[in-house]
Amino acid sequence: MLGKLDVRDLGVAGKRVFVRVDFNVPLDEGGNVTDDRRIRAALPTLTLLLDRGATLILGSHLGRPKGRVVEELRLAPIAGRLAQMLDRNVMALRSVVGPDVEAVVAKAEPGDVVLLENLRFEPGETACDEQLSRDLAALCDVYVNDAFGAAHRAHASISGIPRHVAQSAAGLLMAAELEHLGRALDGAERPFVLVFGGAKVSDKVPVLRNLLERVDVALIGGGMAYTFLAAQGVDVGGSRLEPDLVSTAGEILREAEERGVRVVLPTDHVVAERLAEDVPTRVSAPGVPEGAMGLDVGPVTAGNFAMEIAQARTVLWNGPMGVFEIPAFDSGTRVVAQAIADVTSRGATSVVGGGDTAAAAQLVGVASRMTHVSTGGGASLELLEGKELPGIAALTSVEES
Ligand code: AMP
Repeated sequence: MLGKLDVRDLGVAGKRVFVRVDFNVPLDEGGNVTDDRRIRAALPTLTLLLDRGATLILGSHLGRPKGRVVEELRLAPIAGRLAQMLDRNVMALRSVVGPDVEAVVAKAEPGDVVLLENLRFEPGETACDEQLSRDLAALCDVYVNDAFGAAHRAHASISGIPRHVAQSAAGLLMAAELEHLGRALDGAERPFVLVFGGAKVSDKVPVLRNLLERVDVALIGGGMAYTFLAAQGVDVGGSRLEPDLVSTAGEILREAEERGVRVVLPTDHVVAERLAEDVPTRVSAPGVPEGAMGLDVGPVTAGNFAMEIAQARTVLWNGPMGVFEIPAFDSGTRVVAQAIADVTSRGATSVVGGGDTAAAAQLVGVASRMTHVSTGGGASLELLEGKELPGIAALTSVEES
């Protein structure tokens, strides 16, 4: 696990443990939590620490309050949900730091759970302010980061606090993320098939570059495929295209060929005149004609992708194959998701990137059959690019501990 201290290695009995969690959950207009998966994902770490006799000080951001108090973004509703899940009282504070917080924390005992107010109410959080980092660190003896989804941010609660505490460890969720994503970078079983889709080529180019030396096959679908098809001179009509990246796409295709990596692009497409719910659709091959947009991979492509996936021992999937949010364009994503779930059942390892891809796996009903579904969209991409994430770099190395 990249050689970082793990929460399971800590002695925490009688200690105050600051846990950076990711409780950035969606709320409805009444302030009710509409999807509590992120809260649930933190429970194993919180329960482990409570069982071992720690006092918990929890910190999370919610939304983008931009350094000021936004009433609708207070964490009180989240504290309520967490209390139900942990079956114990959770004290929701109305500030992040200051005398009131210090007083509550000073009185807190082993087994108590204190939730600080939304960290981003403090302007120093995103600015990684030194004083805020020190003030937060002063609340605890030990620091644990279980917020993988925010690990690519150099914020006070992520990379600042660890500078001022003796030990900083990865929580269980963070450790699982590092183990599974780390294995895609190092030591994946071959054949290793990369499945890339979604809209933004710019997000995925650095990842593709970094992974080319590690994978055997790259399947590229979704909107990003059209920039690659354009680089091959295929007609893409009015499909989503990033003109500035066509030459980069061409370079990647050449580099893949030199390295012996097979890149498979769509050879047929579900097209429509425009992106809408009830628009008439048809299949077009090999390209997309003028006046039409490619909005899903076609049935032949989906079948080819499924055959490639069936041969894999490791699959890394990031990005839907089409505009899966609209049923007329979700078939390619369904076929691919099913193929990945099936190959996983036969013993392969599957890792699914966060954000939209996790939502797509959920929609198709196969998320629970994957080896690992990442909780971090941006963070997982940056890790796979080979970048050092500030939230991971800040943790205590095993040798130092
Ligand atoms: P990303 O954040 O780059 O993974 O993009 C995810 C989004 O890509 C989803 O909301 C999809 O609707 C969208 N998408 C996938 N395929 C296409 C396509 N062929 N044209 C336009 N958008 C697409």
